[in-house]
Amino acid sequence: MSIRPYRDVIRRKSRQIFVGDVPVGGDAPISVQSMTNTLTSDAKATIGQVLALEEAGADIVRVSCPDEESTKALKEIVRETNVPIIADIHFHYKRGIEAAEAGAACLRINPGNIGSADRVRDVVKAAVDHNCSMRIGVNAGSLERELLEKYGEPCPEAMVESALNHARILEDNDFTNFKISVKASDVFLSVAAYQGLADACDYPLHLGITEAGSLFSGTVKSSIGLGMLLWSGIGDTIRVSLSADPVEEVKAGYEILKSLGLRRRGVTIISCPSCARQAFPVIRTVERLEERLAHIQTPLTLSIIGCVVNGPGEARETDIGLTGGGKGNHMVYLSGMTDHKIDTDGMVDHIVDLVEAKAAELEAAENSDPAPSLLSTRQSA
Ligand code: SF4
Repeated sequence: MSIRPYRDVIRRKSRQIFVGDVPVGGDAPISVQSMTNTLTSDAKATIGQVLALEEAGADIVRVSCPDEESTKALKEIVRETNVPIIADIHFHYKRGIEAAEAGAACLRINPGNIGSADRVRDVVKAAVDHNCSMRIGVNAGSLERELLEKYGEPCPEAMVESALNHARILEDNDFTNFKISVKASDVFLSVAAYQGLADACDYPLHLGITEAGSLFSGTVKSSIGLGMLLWSGIGDTIRVSLSADPVEEVKAGYEILKSLGLRRRGVTIISCPSCARQAFPVIRTVERLEERLAHIQTPLTLSIIGCVVNGPGEARETDIGLTGGGKGNHMVYLSGMTDHKIDTDGMVDHIVDLVEAKAAELEAAENSDPAPSLLSTRQSA
């Protein structure tokens, strides 16, 4: 029994599949995905972007494979990177087979869109032969004509029916190693479709609000849609789709999961908006700290609060705290207790040193205790 039941998220029971070495579904941590926007045929550029996404914490990365040059480059991309790579295939079943042969860990493919039963069978065989899972990706913008005629417009029922139709094709080929998404750019439609699908099957679900928009508006929209689903226990892997650098998608994905206590990674900064009472420039300090602490992977909390109104209270709940004080005498808290004072000059460097030391201490403790924690290995990695 949790001591704070109001924070509990009871996850929907889903079966587990693997995307490479990353488990998706069941009790696996909710994984964070992104997608490259380089030309996949430009292996060098794509490898560079995948590595940047890995650095940001992406668990899985998807690349488009629109042509043969892309699936040719995929082999090198898989070899030179560490995270499992999903090949995004539309219509061309041969690209699916080539991608599986090239080492893709998963194919994003809709079996109903690739033509004859023979073609589906060939793709499934390639997936089985190369230990490749799949994702059925239904999108409200590209629903089958007969479903649009049946329902009149893209609606949750049509999306669920489309997903289950694709699923049945794979099941008929004895293939159940897949996850499903039902994305829409409309939050209501997407959420309702996922809720319907969650009730209708136990496949792991890949969540996303598609074409969500720019960094700011897309993050807000995704946070509402994904946040609502995740809070109700639905979702096994997520992608925040943004018209922005894909690294931002990973950062946004983690923030959503961290807000709900579903993942822990890196420094979570609690900071006040600042006002006339601030005893140091809060906004600039937080910006600089975010930048300087981006490399920390160990989960820990840091409060940066402009004055004593809320500073001591927040500091009590964080690993390291800073509260602005009069005449440049700011209080530093360690593990919730007042520890020492610091002035504004050199404050950022000092906090960075403290955080790095705390992270090293926590890592050493983790390494000496092999017992798996609640949010262990990949979840905190
Ligand atoms: S904590 Fe202090 S500085 Fe920050 S917003 Fe509140 S009153 Fe203003």
